[in-house]
Amino acid sequence: MARQLHARRIEGIDKNIWVDFTQLAADYKVVNLGQGFPDFSPPSYIQEALCKAVNGGCSMHQYTHAFGHPPLVSILAKFFGRVVGHEIDAFEDILVTVGAYQALFCTFQALVDEEDEVTVILFYCVHVINLEKVEGGKALTSADWVLSSEELASKFNPRTKAIVINTPNNPLGKVYKREELQVIADLCIKHDVVCISDEVYEWLTYDGAKHVKIASLPGMWERTVTIGSGGKSFSATGWKVGWAIGAGPIVKHLKTVHQNSVYHCATAAQEAVAQGFQREYELFGTPESYFLQLPEMLNQKRKKLATCLESVGLQPILPEGGYFMISDISSFKVDLNDPSTQDEPYDYRFVKWLIKEKGLATIPVSAFYSPEHRKDFQNYIRFCFVKEDSTLNAAEDILRKWSD
Ligand code: GLN
Repeated sequence: MARQLHARRIEGIDKNIWVDFTQLAADYKVVNLGQGFPDFSPPSYIQEALCKAVNGGCSMHQYTHAFGHPPLVSILAKFFGRVVGHEIDAFEDILVTVGAYQALFCTFQALVDEEDEVTVILFYCVHVINLEKVEGGKALTSADWVLSSEELASKFNPRTKAIVINTPNNPLGKVYKREELQVIADLCIKHDVVCISDEVYEWLTYDGAKHVKIASLPGMWERTVTIGSGGKSFSATGWKVGWAIGAGPIVKHLKTVHQNSVYHCATAAQEAVAQGFQREYELFGTPESYFLQLPEMLNQKRKKLATCLESVGLQPILPEGGYFMISDISSFKVDLNDPSTQDEPYDYRFVKWLIKEKGLATIPVSAFYSPEHRKDFQNYIRFCFVKEDSTLNAAEDILRKWSD
């Protein structure tokens, strides 16, 4: 066609880190510690729940309630009502989405106008607040990175509509402490700002770090959208079941976007996640709970990866939560003579080289930043450790051979 085909709104967003680097990893048949998904199966009880749902008769194969399959929203309301300490209305305060990604999309589309500003902590958007590393510390952990309350406060202005936080954080692994969340909450209340809290790794914390929901702080329920993920909770990312939970007057606008786009997500997958949460509700806090078993298992993998990275000189920053670990590559000098990547940030070039030359996939950390901030974060790469030990061993072999 001779005329301009694409709408202006898609300009500048044609490149996507997950699409591009996942494709690259597939093309080179690498050991994949890149995109965040488990390379093992979900717990058997939830696989059985999905089989049962699929064989459960006609209604499991047809449309369900647009904003969430009733058994799922009912148990999410019950489960998270207990966690957040606030009564949740299953049909007013919850929207089930096609993964947490769509929950974020609905939230931005529903709440943010062109002239509005959104402050994002370590994420890609209009403003980026850097978590400042505390200098002089010894071992590096994500807790060494603290939020500068002055810098954060300076980003709020009359156009600020929302702030996005992510705890446990991806890619750093920081778990925000109650006092830090209180600073954010105070600013939200003072400036009448919505808080969009992405908590998909909420069950995954280590070494005594505690996940706190900002929606549970006084005055925050009414202005917070909390985003969660069935895929991340039950190691079933391909099911694409996520949700947004918040006060009805906010969530109703997200529903408007949802009903005019995807309408709802797969009924049987929602039914299985409902069964999973029913079981977790009953076992919560006991050793049989998957939400306890998964972080226990991951803690071993986290230590294993950290030891390996340390031993080859890729200084890791030990995460307090989530399933990613970032590593400083600045002392690892490699000759990146690929002219096709010449204009890209150093970490992009490094990861592409690692994939093509060494057969190991990771994710460049500067991808999490808006283009003008990328240069400041091009010395880190992200490893994912929600992987079989055999995968982690294969990655270790590659790194050891290389460092030798
Ligand atoms: N959250 C996942 C990660 O950080 C993947 C997100 C995606 O693929 N859309 O790896």
